[in-house]
Amino acid sequence: MAAKKKAAAPAEKAAAKKARNSADVIVLGGGHNGLVAAAYLARAGIKTILLEARGELGGMALTAEAFDQEIPKGYIYAAMAFSLAVEALNIRARAKRKAQKSS
Ligand SMILES: Cc1cc2nc3c(=O)[nH]c(=O)nc-3n(C[C@H](O)[C@H](O)[C@H](O)COP(=O)(O)OP(=O)(O)OC[C@H]3O[C@@H](n4cnc5c(N)ncnc54)[C@H](O)[C@@H]3O)c2cc1C
Repeated sequence: MAAKKKAAAPAEKAAAKKARNSADVIVLGGGHNGLVAAAYLARAGIKTILLEARGELGGMALTAEAFDQEIPKGYIYAAMAFSLAVEALNIRARAKRKAQKSS
């Protein structure tokens, strides 16, 4: 037997109808892809509404504190600086190899 679809509450229905009537595009999800898409659409003059199910924007790219423990941002910045340093070394090594090949 097929499960009955749960009917939306009147307030939800009214909000959805209002959103449909006041936007050309509705972007579902405020992750980084949704945010970028909505920003480009809005910048092009297209009436855009972005709906996010959670209380915060960012989706999986959101940095959140877990278990009520605040992680010092220094750890995150140190990891980013390390990645940047490794990438800079890679770029330098690649350029060196290219120069050696062409000489
Ligand atoms: C553990 C983990 C580690 C990762 N590490 C990296 C990394 O180091 N580097 C990297 O580049 N990428 C990483 N990724 C991948 C990266 O997080 C995702 O590729 C990226 O977040 C996808 O962005 P998105 O906007 O498409 O989707 P998401 O970030 O998933 O956002 C989707 C949003 O839509 C919302 N949503 C869903 N359904 C609805 C609905 N019906 N109505 C309204 N809102 C809705 C969700 O709440 C969410 O906020 C990692 C992913 C995971 C899971």
